[in-house]
Amino acid sequence: MAEEAIINNDSVQDQWGQICSQLKTEVGDTAFESWLKPLTLGSFSDGTMNICVPTRFMRNWVITHYSDRIHKIWEKKNPTIKNVNFIVQSVQEEAHGLYNPTCRSLLKKISSTPVPQNIYQSGSSFVANSNEGSLNDSLSVPLNPQYTFDNFVVGKTNEFAYAAARKVAESRNVSFNPLFLYSGVGLGKTHLMHAIAWHIKQQDPSRNIVYLSAEKFMYKFVRALRYKDTTAFKEQFRSVDVLMVDDVQFMGGKDTTQEEFFYTFNSLIEEGRQIIISADKSPADLEGIENRLKSRLGCGLVADIHPTDFDLRMGILNNKAQQLGIELPVKVAEFLAQKITSNIRELEGALRRVIAHSQLLSDKEITLDMTQDVLKDMLRSYDKRTTIDEIQKKVAEHFNISVKEMQSSRRARTVARPRQIAMYLAKQLTSRSLPEIGRKFDRDHTTVMHAVRKVEELILEDSSLAENVDTLRRTLEA
Ligand code: ADP
Ligand code: MG
Repeated sequence: MAEEAIINNDSVQDQWGQICSQLKTEVGDTAFESWLKPLTLGSFSDGTMNICVPTRFMRNWVITHYSDRIHKIWEKKNPTIKNVNFIVQSVQEEAHGLYNPTCRSLLKKISSTPVPQNIYQSGSSFVANSNEGSLNDSLSVPLNPQYTFDNFVVGKTNEFAYAAARKVAESRNVSFNPLFLYSGVGLGKTHLMHAIAWHIKQQDPSRNIVYLSAEKFMYKFVRALRYKDTTAFKEQFRSVDVLMVDDVQFMGGKDTTQEEFFYTFNSLIEEGRQIIISADKSPADLEGIENRLKSRLGCGLVADIHPTDFDLRMGILNNKAQQLGIELPVKVAEFLAQKITSNIRELEGALRRVIAHSQLLSDKEITLDMTQDVLKDMLRSYDKRTTIDEIQKKVAEHFNISVKEMQSSRRARTVARPRQIAMYLAKQLTSRSLPEIGRKFDRDHTTVMHAVRKVEELILEDSSLAENVDTLRRTLEA
């Protein structure tokens, strides 16, 4: 109670005022105006001071950049304050009376000081919007602080899209409009879009960036129609400097939304604002999208991200491991990079599982055996693609012998070597155990183990054999 009372005591407001002046001199006017001025005091209880922030994006930013400092200064001024907590309070919530009572003071302030909403984050395309009708923007996903250019590993398959994204982020003037990124799932489109947003924000916090999924766009638009408030909807986009719409394939078949999008799009382009779009297909291949919109989408720069290759997968694994401060044995990385070829999201998921497992078991060392064990289920679904039978068949064909010979007891090098290679590939490309592989060749597990070691050695010594193995792996993985 006594603590609750402090909030009404002018001294806390005074302290906040002093803290703000101090921060202003420390961080400079521009940063202060953009990030700290919009903050307002909320309630105080149990030693925790709540501070209201208008958007999640700002909350993330403030926490990363300023919260330690704010906490330190405040603790010095008022030792009863043990924690400083940042709470999102959006302008819309205020305006529609959905405000959180914790942030009472914002309400007073809002009438006199418009809070800059420099960035609107979108709802995720994966989460269905369950509370339509509510005007609460808290469904929004904040920009992911991990999705930066620094954390983006560049390889042959994504270098073009990366270069285009960097160019757009770094250009003061609109360069390619729109920038259209496309690829299959989990290959980095959203990551690149967030990276562009972070970069622009960092260069110039005053630029108004709107990042949202096509689903969120539709949701907002439909809601505006329902509330007969399309003017306000349009208004939101008028002051936008950079508009990013993720996953526009979701607009397929939604004619009214497309129409609205088309107008928003055209007017922004005409005014020289930057637009960045992503989709799972090229503009021409998008289904259920009107032709005039398709041609509009394709009239800037179109950049696709190709499926990953082995090198990129290795790069990503090593990069992730390094970020997390994890020792990832080369063998384990190679195994994952060979196995999890579908997309980067799954590759990261697999790595995360392995790491979690090792940490849960009190820092159990990450080994190949443990990895195979932890990922058994996941790998089984991959195995459906590559079977031992298929490996035997392909390897036999490649070396011009029959599968029967491969499974026979013949020891001639012309047969034995392909057999060893097939065993090696079976170990690499399937999650079958050594005895299971052995059975398929009518051998026991020690023979398979020996074959795997032998081929590993030969790959290092004999480049033509290494090439053969590589070609076979590619064919089998294709
Ligand atoms: P998409 O939007 O194309 O479906 P995302 O951008 O969501 O894909 O990427 C999926 C995951 O893979 C994210 O966690 C992202 O950080 C990661 N990722 C994608 N590409 C790269 C890359 N080149 N370097 C590092 N991480 C990446
Ligand atoms: Mg995405």
